[in-house]
Amino acid sequence: MSDCIFCRIAAGEVPAKILHSDEAVIAFADVHPQAPTHVLVVPRAHHTSLADVPPGEDATLGRLLATCRELAAVLGLRGGYRVVVNTGADGGQTVSHLHLHLLGGRAMSWPPG
Ligand code: AMP
Repeated sequence: MSDCIFCRIAAGEVPAKILHSDEAVIAFADVHPQAPTHVLVVPRAHHTSLADVPPGEDATLGRLLATCRELAAVLGLRGGYRVVVNTGADGGQTVSHLHLHLLGGRAMSWPPG
């Protein structure tokens, strides 16, 4: 989608600090980091949110989580990390392209705001 910022990053049209790229998944640094490590893990295919991924594409969801696991190891998040998928208005989602937040480098609190 030409008006989607994450589609444009995936297409190389908008600059980002890319940390991972393969045929299905791209990961890049969040422009407003909420932790010392804050990476967005994003499918190249446009899905508005987690709620909009059809069951036939569930394998993509596994790829996204596996990418988080691999990036956490590469980035040295040995103390642990958090993966967040804000979904829809009540979930606090602001960019309408499915993405996982990989957050680490500090202790996290619970519950989230
Ligand atoms: P969410 O609120 O879950 O939809 O998260 C969207 C995230 O995208 C926020 O953490 C933003 O800081 C981040 N973001 C928005 N635009 C960009 C961009 N151009 N490059 C990197 N991160 C972005």
